[in-house]
Amino acid sequence: MGKINLLPPSVAELIAAGEVIDRPASIVKELVENSLDAGANRIAVELRNGGITYLRVTDNGSGIGREDLPVAFVRHATSKIATADDLDAIMTLGFRGEALPSIAAVSRVCVTTRTAGNPSGCRYTVTGGDEGELEDAGCAVGTTFEVRDVFYNTPARMKFLKKDITEGNAVASLLDRLALANPAVSFELIRDGRRVLQTPGDGNLRSVIRLVCGADVAAAMIPVGYSQDGVTVGGMISKPSVARSTRSLQTFFINSRYIRSRTCAGAVEEAYKNRLMTGRFPACVLNLELDSSLVDVNVHPAKLEVRFSSERTVYNVVYSACLAALSQGERREVILRKP
Ligand code: ADP
Ligand code: MG
Repeated sequence: MGKINLLPPSVAELIAAGEVIDRPASIVKELVENSLDAGANRIAVELRNGGITYLRVTDNGSGIGREDLPVAFVRHATSKIATADDLDAIMTLGFRGEALPSIAAVSRVCVTTRTAGNPSGCRYTVTGGDEGELEDAGCAVGTTFEVRDVFYNTPARMKFLKKDITEGNAVASLLDRLALANPAVSFELIRDGRRVLQTPGDGNLRSVIRLVCGADVAAAMIPVGYSQDGVTVGGMISKPSVARSTRSLQTFFINSRYIRSRTCAGAVEEAYKNRLMTGRFPACVLNLELDSSLVDVNVHPAKLEVRFSSERTVYNVVYSACLAALSQGERREVILRKP
């Protein structure tokens, strides 16, 4: 007898789930990204106990058809790509077909959904990755995911969860970022019965910045709009006067996907070089639009880090975009100050 065991599918599922889901915030991230991919413009999130005992994501997106519902929970089942070539041109936030099976492997999930043109909706209940149960249900067009008892069957993971408040805060800052990336979508967050965020969804970035970063930061933001070498940079950056001692007010998106990027942060700081003391950091909300073939989003399990085909180009464009916005902001101030 050899020493190597082929793990049963149920154990393999738990291992795979651990790659994608490590806390309630990662569940909310996957569900809200699915809502955005489904074209929703209203997304509501409700949490109890930081999302550990209960979380719900409701959207007014396309809904899921009855015949697709059980399939959506199969690993590598996705409506977003079909071939290896599609990996080079990803237009959606999701594409791996891993979120739903991963969430279902470590919690109790109930989905209620209806597609447009369908008179009635349906509900699918699945626990711990078991075979689910499908039934009829009345509901509006769109999808509601309810997730209960996260990690109830993986005590080792459960132990690593932080206090309810910390887990809830992680969800709240995730929703802040999603709202900043999508000003045309209305986001709502309810924590233990209290509404803590509601964005108008009218496409105005400054109103989202006001809600997320405060009125003083929002008032000091200048618009950025710049294109070069196939990269378009949009969003807002702060006048040097609202600089902070941390980078906490810096947010970057690629094609509306939140990312962490040293390249972008470095370029922004270089643009402020002679305007800020060392150790002071500007606020920014910048979205880079570039052809999806110039960026690989498939290098990180949570897709937080991306690889650009030319880091140099991205650096230069972000730098020039900030510099142009700053000098235009300064010219406007001079004009305004003139008697
Ligand atoms: P992926 O997002 O990578 O395709 P997921 O496991 O997150 O994989 O979702 C599987 C499929 O379920 C999606 O491709 C989509 O067709 C469907 N789906 C999931 N959530 C929603 C939603 N909120 N609205 C409409 N369809 C959804
Ligand atoms: Mg997804």
